[in-house]
Amino acid sequence: MKLTNINKSFGDNHVLQDISLDFPEHKTTVMVGPSGSGKSTILRSLNLLGMPDSGHYDFDDFHLDFSQKITNKQKLAVRRSTGMVFQDYNLFPNHTVLGNVIEGPTQVLKQPREQAIATAKDLLNKVGLSGYEKHYPNQLSGGQAQRVAIARALAMHPKYILLDEPTSALDPELEQEVLRVLLQLAHEKQSMVVVTHNMIFAQRVANKIIFVEHGQILYDGDPKEFFSPDNPNERIRKFIASMT
Ligand code: ATP
Ligand code: MG
Repeated sequence: MKLTNINKSFGDNHVLQDISLDFPEHKTTVMVGPSGSGKSTILRSLNLLGMPDSGHYDFDDFHLDFSQKITNKQKLAVRRSTGMVFQDYNLFPNHTVLGNVIEGPTQVLKQPREQAIATAKDLLNKVGLSGYEKHYPNQLSGGQAQRVAIARALAMHPKYILLDEPTSALDPELEQEVLRVLLQLAHEKQSMVVVTHNMIFAQRVANKIIFVEHGQILYDGDPKEFFSPDNPNERIRKFIASMT
């Protein structure tokens, strides 16, 4: 999927300044950059949770022009193809773990309940949470809750999983549980876009890295070069040093 010449302002604040980005399929693209640089705004554009003011978005058969009205049908189709995972999990508090994972497949995809349950159990096993089906979100650690959120996103079989700082609310030990799941998904060639402040994880998981600053793209390319001590861009070297 691809964004072309995207602009977005909040009042006088021009937060995305004519950016163009490509997010390759079956790869993990990692977005990094200082706080307030526009990373979440880009991720929300991919999910149409936030609409840019102008620019184009190409995704499969969809060619969206943000200066035109986006129809509900287009929104639904793009949202189904992009599963979002948030920093604070956003689980349904009054549903069990299993209930959270089968909600979308039964309500939106109209899957038969038994089928949705079988898939959900497989996914919970995959994220290391077999046996937690009947727990409620408030009975889970942050790391467990986030893994439920990942299973819930996967249950919709989206083409891309979009993750906005999925571990920044977690203690280091719980963070590792979640990062292990994401490394496994990357290994399975699940298409992902991840915003993270964890440079060690970024370096391990990224097939492609994007550095955002002041709503502009300062780097878009090979992680090896990005993280190299010989990166000719001093600003990037300083950023990485400040984060590690
Ligand atoms: P962080 O690392 O802190 O999450 P970020 O890179 O994700 O930062 P964004 O959340 O995309 O940054 O914000 C980019 C800019 O847009 C910031 O200046 C922010 O204040 C502004 N902004 C974001 N959302 C809104 C909003 N709903 N209303 C007004 N301004 C907003
Ligand atoms: Mg953000």
